[in-house]
Amino acid sequence: MTAGMVIIGGGECGARAAFALRENGYAGSVTLIGAEKHLPYERPPLSKDTMISPEHPLARTIAGEDRFAEQDIRFVAGTTAIGIDREAKNVILAGDNRLAYDRLLLATGAVPRPLPLAAASRHCACLRSYDDALAIRAQLQPGARIVIVGGGFIGLELAASARQRGAVVTVLETQARILMRGVPEEIAAVIAARHRQEGVLIRCGVAIAAITDKDIGVTITLADGEKLEADLAVIGIGALPVTALAEAAGLETANGILVNAHLQTSDPDIFAAGDCCAFPLALYDGRQVRLEAWRNAQEQGTLAARNMLGLCEPHLAVPWFWSDQYELGLQVAGLADEGARTIRRDLGDGAFILFHLAADGRLVAASGIGPGSSVARDIRLAEMLIARSACPDQAHLAAPDIKLKSLLAA
Ligand code: NAP
Repeated sequence: MTAGMVIIGGGECGARAAFALRENGYAGSVTLIGAEKHLPYERPPLSKDTMISPEHPLARTIAGEDRFAEQDIRFVAGTTAIGIDREAKNVILAGDNRLAYDRLLLATGAVPRPLPLAAASRHCACLRSYDDALAIRAQLQPGARIVIVGGGFIGLELAASARQRGAVVTVLETQARILMRGVPEEIAAVIAARHRQEGVLIRCGVAIAAITDKDIGVTITLADGEKLEADLAVIGIGALPVTALAEAAGLETANGILVNAHLQTSDPDIFAAGDCCAFPLALYDGRQVRLEAWRNAQEQGTLAARNMLGLCEPHLAVPWFWSDQYELGLQVAGLADEGARTIRRDLGDGAFILFHLAADGRLVAASGIGPGSSVARDIRLAEMLIARSACPDQAHLAAPDIKLKSLLAA
């Protein structure tokens, strides 16, 4: 009898991998280890629906207990792996309990980047888990003063939700503008304007000097001495890959667990996928990236499972993410910072797409914003063009009456 497959990390990526092992015909034992007490659940709703739903929100699980049972996947909840014995091919759990593996997947995800100034505060929170979300939601009352540190995805999605709950919201961002990473300025400006229209105060280029708890609430002192009073401060200043287990086991790491195009670490029997891994993107000349995105977690979980079974398939997917704030839907396919020039296509109703072209004319990314899912179809088509390394005619990209589908056919 073989030892079977072990997956560390019960998030989107790990759960997808467990089911993908079965979908690909694996009949041996599959164990999924999750640190949280909940069944694997979706994180995207945590900053949105979970905050604003009128009823008590339940975690949106990826699969119920019955599906784990039916697929004969052993889910070990509330358990943290504390080591990997690569020689014996064992995962070490608390109390020196050991779990043997044939192949191991690290889907350990990421954790909120800590703000040391906030470490001792009882009135500062981070959002990563369902339990975090419930704690923050409880404070989003009409009139509550919420300061959000970080004008990234967490901060802005939460700002929109908090406004919808009637809170008074201030966003503090160190950079000169919000969404500096991965979102073009033209699109960030639309989002900033929408927040301002809702009464969110967005302050860029500010630094925090001190955070001091009071009996009720917290005082945030800025570098210029100004003091802001808040009932709650939410820190959303980025995420750090969880690499400690990999590092202690001697695997190569550098801004994530280093993997090859097959998601294999420096140990051929250990794979890593999702937020925790840094991998080469073939489409961008093997540029090493780490993607913190829901779809990437899904795709890599599935791919890692196939490669754990020896299929040896490369990761070829085009990066993609989305964010919903108020009625606005933002989507980005590809890596916008690879672009040398930008072409804009207006879709009506204020929606538009920016096509990012490399110096040689290749389409390397497309970013769009508009009401609801108004940009979704064109972003999907752009993604297909990016995957083909197409060099579309720039005048055609700009002309809304020329269907992107026709460019794909060309
Ligand atoms: P993020 O998108 O990287 O944004 C964090 C922002 O905070 C950055 O602009 C950062 O600037 C800024 N910042 C850093 N230190 C600061 C400080 N001391 N004071 C004020 N601002 C500061 O990260 P996030 O919003 O925290 O999101 C965390 C994770 O959740 C990520 O993995 C994210 O992708 C994921 N998430 C994704 C979505 C989505 O895709 N729709 C939604 C929610 C969450 P610097 O660049 O200078 O550090």
